[in-house]
Amino acid sequence: MKFGGTGVNSANKVREVAQLIKTHRTMGNEVVAVVSAIRGMTDDTLSVAGSIRNGQRVSIEEFMKSTRDSHMAILRDAIISKTIMKNAESLITQVLDELDKVLRGIVLLAEVTPKTLDYLLSFGERLSTPIVSYALQDIGIPSEYLTGKEAGILTDSNFGDARPLMDTTKLRVGLKITPLLANNVVPIVTGFIGADQHGVTTTIGRGGSDYTATLIASSVQADEVWLWSDVDGLMTADPKIVHDAQVLKEVSFAEALEMALFGAKYIHPRSFYPVIESNIPIRIRNALNVNQEGSIITTTPTKSSQKIVKSINAIRKTSLIDVSGGDMAGSPGTASRIFEILARNKVNIIMISQSPSESSISMVVRKSDLERATTALELNLLGKIIKKVNVMENAAIIAVVGSGMRGIKGVASKIFSAVARSDVNVIMIAQGSSELNLAFVVNDDDCEKTVRALHSEFKLGLAN
Ligand code: ASP
Ligand code: MG
Repeated sequence: MKFGGTGVNSANKVREVAQLIKTHRTMGNEVVAVVSAIRGMTDDTLSVAGSIRNGQRVSIEEFMKSTRDSHMAILRDAIISKTIMKNAESLITQVLDELDKVLRGIVLLAEVTPKTLDYLLSFGERLSTPIVSYALQDIGIPSEYLTGKEAGILTDSNFGDARPLMDTTKLRVGLKITPLLANNVVPIVTGFIGADQHGVTTTIGRGGSDYTATLIASSVQADEVWLWSDVDGLMTADPKIVHDAQVLKEVSFAEALEMALFGAKYIHPRSFYPVIESNIPIRIRNALNVNQEGSIITTTPTKSSQKIVKSINAIRKTSLIDVSGGDMAGSPGTASRIFEILARNKVNIIMISQSPSESSISMVVRKSDLERATTALELNLLGKIIKKVNVMENAAIIAVVGSGMRGIKGVASKIFSAVARSDVNVIMIAQGSSELNLAFVVNDDDCEKTVRALHSEFKLGLAN
């Protein structure tokens, strides 16, 4: 079970998490829990690091005070036993003091390397996770707190986005966690963090706690992974846009991968790989609404859950860049040079399309990357292989997802007729040959009405 940051940001919620684990254990299950930093902690730490890096004056005292206060307040109200409280306080105080020292060191050097940043970011999980472990002990459940490193998660040294070394990790985690379970202990592990082969702390990418959970699950051959967060599950559309959006009961891994980045529940995209391999289902559940069954993600959902279209996803805050020019047509290597320049400038391309005349290539990037992207293209390629760079700043990608689309005729026509009836102009289209999704770009002003039109066209508002 993985608990997100909104599931542990108050003493009440921590107690509920402990109860939830206890309940499922009483029902005859063995549980390993993975915990994220409390909500906002990772972002706050990042912004403090950013300010130090930019030479802005930051008040370490203020940050330390609010971090100390919030964690201590949760701890004090989540635990009743005096002895357990004493142990918990002493551990948390120790971690807080270490954080204080690290921050002062960084301020002194006025430098934040990716390595230091990972160390700094690890404190969020190192503060939240032990609290849950002590809260479990407080209600009579033996529990042991482990960092990702102690649990055996070994990664490369690509700080900020480290990749776990699978085989060794599986072996080590299995050897560490299995005996604890055999002894009736509930292991509680920090999400998001591991260590490289030198023992240096690494992080595995934002939202990485999901990934930690699936890694551990595949290492101990778990029956299921449950990702507890604050949404009811994967949905037919964003409920903020479509009022009758429904929770999807069953979704395939392939479909979930398409939805993970864009739906109401962000799932770390690499989370799926460890469990796809070992065929372990993932359940998405709402810790604030435990009666809702949530969504289950499996390799082969039941026939009855298979639909042509399952969900309409909107990817907003994106921009479209169209590059064109006489020399592009028929020159091998043009696309590669364009993408290479963007890659070198750390611009991630979300969607690509090129017409067979090869006279232009359209790309969608995050809006936050737009300036970097256009500057890089203009400086390096304008006037050479490309003549023009056109930009549409406020674009939205609409991605229609469903494995039932494969081989079915008329889906595209249905989609685009509905869009046309809503008087929306389609600017760019892409469909992978897997036919699992069809994505197109519209002006962001048209985003919501397009999502609503398609949601009703495919009758996704009816309970599935
Ligand atoms: N605390 C980390 C983050 O905010 C990891 C996670 O929440 O899964 O990205
Ligand atoms: Mg999170």
